[in-house]
Amino acid sequence: MNRFRLVLLFTIAALIGAFFVFDLHRFFTLEALKAEQFAIADYRTAHPIAAGVLYGILYVTVTGLSLPGAAVLTLAGGAIFGLLWGTLIVSFASTIGATLAFLAARFLFRDAVKSFFGERLQAIDAGVARDGALYLFTLRLVPVFPFFAINLLMGLTAMRARTFYWVSQAGMLAGTVVYVNAGRQLAKIESLSGVLSPALLFSFALLGLFPLLASKLVDAIKAHRVYAQWPKPKRFDRNLVVIGAGSAGLVTAYIGAAVKAKVTLVEKHRMGGDCLNTGCVPSKALIRTARLLSQIRRAPEFGIRGAHADFDFATAMERVQRVVREVAPHDSAERYTGLGVEVIEGEAKIVSPWAVEVRTREGSRTLATRSIVIAAGARPFVPPIPGLEDIGYLTSDTVWALRVLPKRLVVLGGGPVGCELAQTFARFGSRVTQVEMLPRLLIREDPEVSEIVARRFRAEGVDVRLDHQAKRITVENGEKVLIAEHQGAEARVPFDQILVAVGRIANTQGYGLEELGIATTKARTIETNEFLQTRYPNIYACGDVAGPFQFTHTAAHQAWYTAVNTLFGALRKYRADYRVIPWATFIDPEVARVGLNELEARAQAIPYEVSLYGIEDLDRAIADGEASGFVKVLTVPGKDRILGVTLVGEHAGDLIAEFVMAMKHGLGLNKLLGTIHIYPTLAEANKYAAGVWKRAHTPKRLLRWLERYHAWRRG
Ligand SMILES: Cc1cc2nc3c(=O)[nH]c(=O)nc-3n(C[C@H](O)[C@H](O)[C@H](O)COP(=O)(O)OP(=O)(O)OC[C@H]3O[C@@H](n4cnc5c(N)ncnc54)[C@H](O)[C@@H]3O)c2cc1C
Repeated sequence: MNRFRLVLLFTIAALIGAFFVFDLHRFFTLEALKAEQFAIADYRTAHPIAAGVLYGILYVTVTGLSLPGAAVLTLAGGAIFGLLWGTLIVSFASTIGATLAFLAARFLFRDAVKSFFGERLQAIDAGVARDGALYLFTLRLVPVFPFFAINLLMGLTAMRARTFYWVSQAGMLAGTVVYVNAGRQLAKIESLSGVLSPALLFSFALLGLFPLLASKLVDAIKAHRVYAQWPKPKRFDRNLVVIGAGSAGLVTAYIGAAVKAKVTLVEKHRMGGDCLNTGCVPSKALIRTARLLSQIRRAPEFGIRGAHADFDFATAMERVQRVVREVAPHDSAERYTGLGVEVIEGEAKIVSPWAVEVRTREGSRTLATRSIVIAAGARPFVPPIPGLEDIGYLTSDTVWALRVLPKRLVVLGGGPVGCELAQTFARFGSRVTQVEMLPRLLIREDPEVSEIVARRFRAEGVDVRLDHQAKRITVENGEKVLIAEHQGAEARVPFDQILVAVGRIANTQGYGLEELGIATTKARTIETNEFLQTRYPNIYACGDVAGPFQFTHTAAHQAWYTAVNTLFGALRKYRADYRVIPWATFIDPEVARVGLNELEARAQAIPYEVSLYGIEDLDRAIADGEASGFVKVLTVPGKDRILGVTLVGEHAGDLIAEFVMAMKHGLGLNKLLGTIHIYPTLAEANKYAAGVWKRAHTPKRLLRWLERYHAWRRG
């Protein structure tokens, strides 16, 4: 806290302290007021302006310092100045005082609150930005909550002072009139309980409900407008139609069927979507072969002479398909039919908010449904690089059909998919050139992660070209060449095949969104609210098509919200919770993360401490010959609360689960340190990282005393 803040805090504390020490509260009672009533009335008659100004200043001081007594002062306002002037003075003075308290709370404590709550405050701020004015208005109308608490709490949020001022003034006006009016009857009222009579409280409660009712009304009017042009069926054949049977659609349908809703799942291509057919499953199966190859090459390191791998790419690719076939029954139409879901193979198109047309081999049919969940996924983004279309290219959709290993492979893109496939193909023996226009691989991770990855890739023979922007593709003497711009010059990369892995784009076209006017975001995903509803409250979206994440586990996570909100939203709706989202990139070494890294913490101005444990020290990793990587934990300064973890190393994607659990359930590093970890395991790295934090926070003074105590015990 800087000096000015300290001085202000001290001054406010001193004034409040003086109020209580000198028992100034005794002047703010009905008895005191009544005792001085005539003297005050005389003064007011003689000096009306001075009386008004003095009264206003007193009112601002009391409310600004959050002192008790505002209610009695308001009554006094009515008694001294009458209804009109009393209301006018109290209305402005109370709002000015409240705003001063609000500003003081913000100035003194907002930064501290920000650092304590971190990302959670962002969610609160977003809520305040959206509904804050309405909530404040409601709180002002219902005098059940102490106004001073509202002033201080609102000061800790991101609400604009101007909004706070006018909403407060408008919201308090009705109550002010009632109180000032009651003050006019001061002589007749014996105690505050007379003012807080059940009848009066009931009218306040009604006033309080008014803005909520008004907001519901606004929602209903909005919905009515959106639906106006669409005739609503009298009854629906089903509760839910889910478009797309990838991770998001499958989980939505599963939950729907589990709670006995009538659900239809429509898939136009392959059950299981990307994850099963062209994403997680085949990529991890292929990575397994590449890893085995790399380990065989390292055999001499482990005392095995003469280990030799006769690698056959086509067989490895066939194995990938076998793995996909083995996992496929989990996502199959048969399984889901057995679970009670109606599965239709066909292409869905939303033709009205309550109707989905499905084109199947047998013809078209229209399904009437109460709700729709769009889970149409994403596809590889292919940038418009001149020459690319002519030459032909691979993507994560098509690479699985390869049966001949490309001799020279360009991997365009340094994100997770590009990295996983670049290392894999290099391990198979392709001469891989990885071209990335940004200065680092895995740009979302901290720079040292990118460095470790790039170093390892280069050591394994990947030609990593950073800061290279692909400009065009040409054919020179029958040879395909990628021309990239690098530091103002042109770099040439000859290749046999090019794999485009520069990101994925949501599927938002061609199935009715345009006709219904369902908007997309800047990231070109479907626009949804926090309940995952589109502009039509009965049409939801989840998974890659909705973003902001593109993982199977986040698709499944969102699917829970869409299923529950579609089916039970009339009773209660849940906001999708993105507070603890983990992910991993399955390169070697694996890179896993949950929560903030340093880049993000700095960008969001969130203070943090770093505890870093190097895995080269870990017994099990040394024994396994995998002693590289680190566990980096970000915590709230001075506290063991985890803000985020980056883990690089063998099985990082598994090891991070402990931190995900800790963050999700609010367990700090002390708890992690107090948990027994089996020796010797890789998981011990997590505990040692917690140990690094603990050593940095040892109570030094206490240890000095202990040293003295032991010295004394030795005599
Ligand atoms: C190479 C690669 C590796 C990956 N590895 C991982 C990983 O290790 N871990 C991880 O968590 N994620 C990984 N992902 C991401 C993961 O695959 C996706 O996030 C996940 O599949 C998204 O699921 P989804 O249900 O949103 O979409 P999808 O799986 O794409 O499913 C959408 C489905 O909707 C269907 N569809 C679209 N339009 C219509 C229509 N009009 N009518 C009927 N059906 C329609 C599509 O045919 C598709 O089957 C990887 C992705 C790739 C490309």
